Amino acid sequence: SSNRNLFAILARNFPKDPGAPLLETANGAVRSYHEMLELSARIGRTLLAASAKPGERLMVQVEKTPEAIALYLAALRIGAIYLPLNTGYRRDEVEYFLTDAAPKVVVVTPGSPLADESLIKDHGARMLTLDAEGRGSLIDAAQRQPAEIEDFECDDATIAAILYTSGTTGKPKGAMLSHGNLSSNAAALHEIWRFEPRDRLLHALPIFHTHGLFVALNTTLLNGTSMVFLKHFDAAEVIRLLPRVTVMMGVPTFYTRLLASPEFGRDCCRDMRLFISGSAPLTVETFNAFKERTGHTILERYGMTEANMITSNPYQRDRVAGSVGFPLPGVSLRIADDQGKPLKQGEVGGIEVKGPNIFQGYWRNPEKTKSEFRADGFFITGDVGRIDERGYVHIVGRSKDLIISGGFNVYPKEVESVIDTLPGVAESAVIGVPHADFGEGVVAVVVGKPGAQLAEKQIAEATRDHLAAYKAPKAVFLVEQLPRNAMGKVEKAKLRETYKATFAAPRR
Ligand code: ATP
Ligand code: MG
Repeated sequence: SSNRNLFAILARNFPKDPGAPLLETANGAVRSYHEMLELSARIGRTLLAASAKPGERLMVQVEKTPEAIALYLAALRIGAIYLPLNTGYRRDEVEYFLTDAAPKVVVVTPGSPLADESLIKDHGARMLTLDAEGRGSLIDAAQRQPAEIEDFECDDATIAAILYTSGTTGKPKGAMLSHGNLSSNAAALHEIWRFEPRDRLLHALPIFHTHGLFVALNTTLLNGTSMVFLKHFDAAEVIRLLPRVTVMMGVPTFYTRLLASPEFGRDCCRDMRLFISGSAPLTVETFNAFKERTGHTILERYGMTEANMITSNPYQRDRVAGSVGFPLPGVSLRIADDQGKPLKQGEVGGIEVKGPNIFQGYWRNPEKTKSEFRADGFFITGDVGRIDERGYVHIVGRSKDLIISGGFNVYPKEVESVIDTLPGVAESAVIGVPHADFGEGVVAVVVGKPGAQLAEKQIAEATRDHLAAYKAPKAVFLVEQLPRNAMGKVEKAKLRETYKATFAAPRR
């Protein structure tokens, strides 16, 4: 058929065998493709009856369950715009999303901040529930519906989902993603990562974010692959389950936590085909330590809510530590100056991308959308990077995190890499805070390895041996841990707030 609905495209490759598994939960319960399809049809009918019609927003803040996957598929099947929210968001945050997104139907976990019938009613929406065990009013109503549905017919440009960005650099923005954005990305990942029906994915990521939802799920579904489906990442559980899977997708903190566990080693990784990392920078230390411990090289990739996946290290050629690899098939990437003028090979500048993966704009924010695109259609990612002589892309940082001290550009990642290799250092975050003489002063926030005796002054001195004076931190703070969000990203805006008075003139 000519239907460009993502669901219809995925479903073409669903296994014909009615018993073929789609996912297995930690307790060993299996859900087949067939069961999940039937459930998604029933849920789709329930949503339509609750007026989640094509183009209407369906807001979802629920725990990770097989039923939540069926709910996602149902939204695609009826053409409602799927709008998942981070389960960590509290009441005030959720009220902002309710107002901003104006959904027709809201599916919530009972007891969560959003599970307030009168609040939801005041916003003109209907409330349905889905709890952590996969039960609730949504499922009760679905059980009374027939197990088939006619899939919504649409083109590539039709909006399939709105995903809010992680809010690492400011207030989360609603990115509108079309069926074509998602299906083109799934096809590209199929091509480069060689997924096959006999693969098994270990899925321990949250399903409200582009990584766990689109990269992991759509790639799995497009190939009729199955998953081992964990509610959360737990190192001991993952070590137990790795012998049952062939591919794992994770954020860098998954890998550092595995490495922190003495039981983790070659044994559990024997049948693994691929370890993938994304959403935040994977350090060279982690890449190397993982290779030493398991014999596997982690494949690092780069993406963002607005652009889906952008680059990946190669499957068959060298995976380079500290690089995010090459642009996906069909994706153009350039390094440009502030005006969008392409720079020379090797130079550091803004990462700009164009292709079928790029979103359709920010929800109800055409000005913001306009300001993030060049006249020739390239999207300004806000990330800073360079391309090396072999064509590998390296991310240097985010333009918002760039420090300008005494008129010189300081890339935090360069300073962090130096600090991270000092003895006794586990990890670090480098930020710029106001400084009367230099505009911004470099501050390093450092976490020591367990039991290490670190001194702030020594760290500052040691970095000066490796870095120009203007790059070396003018102040160092030792902390127990760095603030991170659900995707394991260091929250630098929070750190800047905490340390903003570091160089303030002492009060008299
Ligand atoms: P916000 O846009 O709200 O500030 P965010 O940018 O963190 O939040 P996401 O869309 O979840 O929201 O994250 C995309 C960003 O994550 C990218 O722009 C990039 O900065 C970072 N990122 C993703 N993958 C990698 C990677 N492999 N290496 C370094 N950074 C990465
Ligand atoms: Mg962003």
